[in-house]
Amino acid sequence: MDKNIELANLIFPNITKTVEDYEKMYPERNLPEGAKVTRYAPSPTGFIHIGALLSSFTGDMIARQSNGVFYLRIEDTDTERTIDNGINVIIEGLKEFGVDFDEGPLSDGTEKGNYGPYIQSQRKEIYHAFIKHLIIEGKAYPCFCTKEENDAIREHQTAGKKRIGYYGKYAKCRNIPTSEAIERIKNGDKYIIRLKSPGCFDRRIVIDDLIKGRIEMPENDIDIPIMKGDGLPTYHFAHLVDDHLMRTTHITRGDEWIPSLPIHIQLFQMFGFKAPKYAHLSPISKNDNGTVRKISKRKDPEAAMSYYHKEGIPSYAVMLYLATLMNSNFEEWYNQNKDKKYTDFKFDFKKMSKSCPLFDGEKLNNISKTYFSLLKASDIYNDACVYFNKYDKEFYDIFTKDKDYSINLLNIEREVKKPRKDIASYKDIKKEFNYMYDELFDSIESYEWQNITDINDIKEILNTYISMYDINDDKNEWFNKCKELCDKLGYASDMKEYKANPEKYKGNVADVTTVIRVALTKKAQTPDLYELLKLIGVDGIKSRFEKVA
Ligand code: GLU
Repeated sequence: MDKNIELANLIFPNITKTVEDYEKMYPERNLPEGAKVTRYAPSPTGFIHIGALLSSFTGDMIARQSNGVFYLRIEDTDTERTIDNGINVIIEGLKEFGVDFDEGPLSDGTEKGNYGPYIQSQRKEIYHAFIKHLIIEGKAYPCFCTKEENDAIREHQTAGKKRIGYYGKYAKCRNIPTSEAIERIKNGDKYIIRLKSPGCFDRRIVIDDLIKGRIEMPENDIDIPIMKGDGLPTYHFAHLVDDHLMRTTHITRGDEWIPSLPIHIQLFQMFGFKAPKYAHLSPISKNDNGTVRKISKRKDPEAAMSYYHKEGIPSYAVMLYLATLMNSNFEEWYNQNKDKKYTDFKFDFKKMSKSCPLFDGEKLNNISKTYFSLLKASDIYNDACVYFNKYDKEFYDIFTKDKDYSINLLNIEREVKKPRKDIASYKDIKKEFNYMYDELFDSIESYEWQNITDINDIKEILNTYISMYDINDDKNEWFNKCKELCDKLGYASDMKEYKANPEKYKGNVADVTTVIRVALTKKAQTPDLYELLKLIGVDGIKSRFEKVA
């Protein structure tokens, strides 16, 4: 028998399906012209990084906008990094940000789609069939080098300033006769499988990356491991098998994979498969006191998507922000199309940043404020309830005690031409409006008095004001009464007149309304005072005025 076949059968005695069988099982997808097949392929580490969300969002948009397919594939061949429930964290976590999959694993343990299994640890047989094929063809071989031997090669290369890797004369097991390899395996020697690379370091490959443009690199001549000692494939090999059989057309992944491109292109060529198109994304970075560095899970809380949930920034606002990082022309489009969804925007690889997009928390806040300003008060109320119920039970009880009160509060200066932009997160509702809830009012430390600070003047204004206040006054009547009060107590009711003769007055109408505002809220800056007074009501106003001592 051909020695290569004998070796292949010895290593994979139970693998009977061939590459051709799998080609038939997972045929070319029947999709409309131009449809793109993309995927998100995370390791289930129980954590969603903001860069991962951007990457999956990109894949989702490309597939969606071309009537293609976007699928989830779980890359769990690195068993040390895999955690229990890691898959659900990904599925549920991404769904909260509007990223949904056409195919892939589901939270209940099943999966949808005809190109699965979508979890790599369940695809061992498939990888083995592909590796077996290479061994039969003499394009892969078992390597018996121990860790110590590999370390020694590396040290030797480092000392001699040589390129690191298992290639050329360093690829010690490449030339072991197949019959010897068979004997060693029968003897129980430990091994991994390496690719017999046909590449030459002096030749170059050229790739047109959809984001980075033309990339030129030396061919791969390293006999990379394709199967580890535990029988699982390496990332490179799984990438080939999975993306080919799942018929991926476009790969969006982090640009840390660019150095591996020569390997990937080579693998596709060795099998005679058409390689997918690649779009390598730059990592989201951060300006850290003048140094730009990648956003890191360890150093930056904003790297984790759970952070935005805890902060109470709506997922939709986060996605709007990510869309600005995704395409430089998104913001301009959105400003003209605020009534549309971000998914209506026509995404384009060419508008994607070649270098690292910079994370800007301030901008995210502004986007979120604009987003909130466009929502209906009742919708904000409902979502805020969900948030407070989960993250701030104490305020939840206060906020929901009188639903109409809270909704009316959120509605102040909302249904107007230029709605207020003071809330960037649910948390901000409590921060901005704590004074509107009696339970919190007392804990605000001090009154922000402005021009009028004399307690007797303040009391005189408040006492006079309460005797004149009528909750049924319209805004004009209300303001006229404020002016009336000024005339009565020696403040200027007319600003022009005040400016002309300030010495004649104790202050002006703005000073007087500020006293009323601060007595009512302790704050100098608030939304419309007339509305706040109405909302708090006569009894509430009285009791707050009485607290001013
Ligand atoms: N599992 C790989 C990672 O998490 C995926 C890279 C890819 O998308 O191909 O980096």
